[in-house]
Order: sequence, then C-alpha cells, then structure tokens
Amino acid sequence: MDLRDSAEHQKFREEVRKFLKDFKDQAPEETAHTFRLSPRPYTQQVKDWQKLLVERGYACRNVPKEYGGFGAAPDILKNKIIADEFFAADMPQGLYGQGISMLVPTLLEHGTEEQKQAWIEPTINGEIMWCQGYSEPNSGSDLASLQTNAIVDGDDFLINGSKIWTSSAHIAPMIFCLVRTEPDASKYQGISYMIFSMDTPGIEVRPLQTMTGHPSFNEVFFTDVRVPQTAVVGGRGKGWKVANSTLKHERGMLSNANASQERLNKIARILKEETVDGRPLFKNRILRDRFIDLQSQVQGMRLHEMRLLTNAERGNAPGLGDMVCKLLGCEINHQLDALAIDALGEIGILYDGIPSVQEDGIWQQWFMYDLGLIIGGGTAQIQKNIIAERGLDMPREPRAVAG
Ligand SMILES: Cc1cc2nc3c(=O)[nH]c(=O)nc-3n(C[C@H](O)[C@H](O)[C@H](O)COP(=O)(O)OP(=O)(O)OC[C@H]3O[C@@H](n4cnc5c(N)ncnc54)[C@H](O)[C@@H]3O)c2cc1C
Repeated sequence: MDLRDSAEHQKFREEVRKFLKDFKDQAPEETAHTFRLSPRPYTQQVKDWQKLLVERGYACRNVPKEYGGFGAAPDILKNKIIADEFFAADMPQGLYGQGISMLVPTLLEHGTEEQKQAWIEPTINGEIMWCQGYSEPNSGSDLASLQTNAIVDGDDFLINGSKIWTSSAHIAPMIFCLVRTEPDASKYQGISYMIFSMDTPGIEVRPLQTMTGHPSFNEVFFTDVRVPQTAVVGGRGKGWKVANSTLKHERGMLSNANASQERLNKIARILKEETVDGRPLFKNRILRDRFIDLQSQVQGMRLHEMRLLTNAERGNAPGLGDMVCKLLGCEINHQLDALAIDALGEIGILYDGIPSVQEDGIWQQWFMYDLGLIIGGGTAQIQKNIIAERGLDMPREPRAVAG
C-alpha cells in the first residue's frame, strides 16, 4: 500500500498544521499521560482543550455526531496524520483512558440507545471519568472466575463482593464492572457487565499506593449496592463478550510507536548532552549499543503499525498483528526507561522535589509505572498465551485441575 499523502490527505495535513499553529496558546501543559501517571480530576483548561479537539475532529473523530463526537467517516490515514502532526508539534493530543478509549467504543458496540445518549458525550469531553472493576483478589489472569455477585431484588440488582487494583476508583464518579448474575450458569455464561455511579450507597474505596508513590489504584468493596437492571450493558449473562470488547480496546490503548519515539528522542538528547570525564555518553559503547538496539525496536513498531494500517485499509482483520502490540510496546517502553535511568547514573533515580533532579524525576516514575503496564490489561505471560493460542493456533495450555 502506498502510504504517501494523496492530494486530499495533504490538504488535511495542512489543516491540522494550521490548527496547531493557531491554537498553540490554548494547549494545556498537562498531557493525557501526566494524568495517567498521577490520576486526578482533569483541570478546566484540559477539558476546554479536549472539547475544542472533539469539535474540530482531532479527538474522538469517528464517534457519531448524535453522541457528541465529530462524526467523520472512518479514514485511518487521517487519524494517523492527526497523531503524527500533534506528535511532531509536541502538542497535547486528545485525552485517553478507561472511559474514552475503552468504555466509549464498547458502548458504541454493545450499549442501548439510552446508555449511548447518557454517557458518551460527557465521557469524550472529559466531564466524566470512569474506572474499571474487573480484577478481584482471587481473579486476575483467570478473570472469568470472578465472584462478585448481583442478585435480582425488584427492579434492581443488589451487588456484593470486592474488586482490587481498580485504577482511579478514588476519583472516578462512574464504574464499569463485571459481576456474576447467573450463579448456576457456566463460568463464562454467568457474567454481566454493568455501569453505575461510584456514589451509590454501599461502595467503599480504599486507595492503594503503587511503586510510583501515587495512590493510583484501589480496593473497592460492595455491600448491598443497589443498581437498576437498566445498568446492564449487552444483556444479562452476556458480559463476557462485552468485557472482551473492552479488553481489546485496552490493549490497543497501551502501546503506540509515537509514545515510544518520544522517549527515544529524550534519551538521544541525554546521551548527546550529558558527559562523563568530558566525553558525551554516546561515546560509551554499552549505552550506545543499547540505544541502537531500542531504536531499531521502536522503528520495528512503527513499521508494524504501518502494516496494520495497510491491513485495515484493505478491510482485513488485524488478527495476530494486533495481539503483539501491547506485549512489545509495553516491554520496549520499560527498557527505554531503564536505559535513561542507567545513562543518568545517580541523577536518574532521584525523585521530583530534589534540586538536582532532571525532568521532574520523570524517568524513575515512568520506569515503575511502565512495569505496571506490563501486568495491567493482561500480563505479558497471558499476552503470550493469547498470541500462541488465538494468533498462531497452537494447542491450548493445559487447564489446572480443581481441588
Ligand atoms: C498498574 C496496574 C493497573 C491496573 N488497573 C486495573 C484496573 O483499573 N481494573 C482492574 O480490574 N484491574 C486492574 N489491574 C489488575 C490487572 O489486570 C491484574 O493485575 C492482571 O490481570 C494480573 O492479575 P493478578 O494480579 O491477579 O495476577 P495473577 O493472575 O495471580 O498472576 C500472577 C502471575 O502468574 C502468571 N500467570 C497466571 N496465569 C497464567 C497462565 N495461565 N499462564 C502463564 N502465566 C500465568 C501471571 O502472568 C503473573 O506473572 C491493574 C494492574 C496494574 C499493575
């Protein structure tokens, strides 16, 4: 496939560049990534910027107009032009996260008309944050074994049980949550996917501190939490399919070549500008080898994304190609962070607030945060199982025998 700009795409690229030039002053300092590192409610400036991007079609571009999006017909090359131009201009792109990137596409696929009307617009505008109630103390990789239950009580469900590692539950006003509504059905058939307010009586949130020092995830306890039956997305007992749709979007959110390239560019600057005994770090053979190795891996990611684009443009299913992105992207980012820390030596492990720290101590924060992303959204080992079993048609791993 020829990925060079057609006349239409060249015109579109010029439009994006002009927007970035004209609106530079309105862009907030914070990026979506800073909010992920240290979850907190969006500032008004961030929400205004997001709203502007949605109105102009530079965020949530393909979300239908009736749900508050821009309503453009899918054109993957235009989406790529937007991502590349914002990246090149070093301007904050649209927000992403559990609501915008995971719940919104799930609702578009499985939600009722009322659910789409109620939740999509405030979510894409950054007005409502969401958290994801999937993992439980005894159900992580084997998610379908979850035990939080919901029993019918009049027009409602009563939910009892607990979730763990629930990112942003301490600040998110809404949750999408997996519960067991059919205790007698088989493991995969008895699950329902529900959306409800975190202010519902009976919900208790206890923050957990991660290695980064930020309380970014939580334990969540449910005691007789009353939720209307209309909170179910995709049909009662059919939540496993809906949950997998969200997981697919989560995997897609956690890796992209531009984000890795941004880190690589910062490391190149460190290796050029920092010196040991008067010699730039690039002269150090070990650091240079590691840099070149990672540079070729990031380039590989970029070419792989091009291959996926070509596939999508031809209407082919992404299949195996899509499955490797989360695994590789998260591992490459973690290796990039490690290289930056090693290159900076003792400065690399300083925390923000210490006078000689560089770039607000971002590298050690990224190093610890990115280790979490190798686990969150399905661990690296589980990704390898998915690639082997669903992508390469290899025999399924033996299932553990109960008892
Ligand atoms: C930063 C972060 C944010 C998170 N945010 C959320 C969130 O918002 N919402 C939410 O619901 N969850 C969240 N999680 C939880 C995450 O989804 C789980 O940690 C993950 O699915 C693994 O489950 P577990 O921790 O129970 O580990 P386990 O499933 O107990 O796994 C332990 C180890 O055994 C390995 N293992 C397990 N089964 C297999 C197998 N079949 N084959 C090979 N190896 C195997 C795993 O790879 C892992 O190394 C988050 C986790 C992190 C780290």
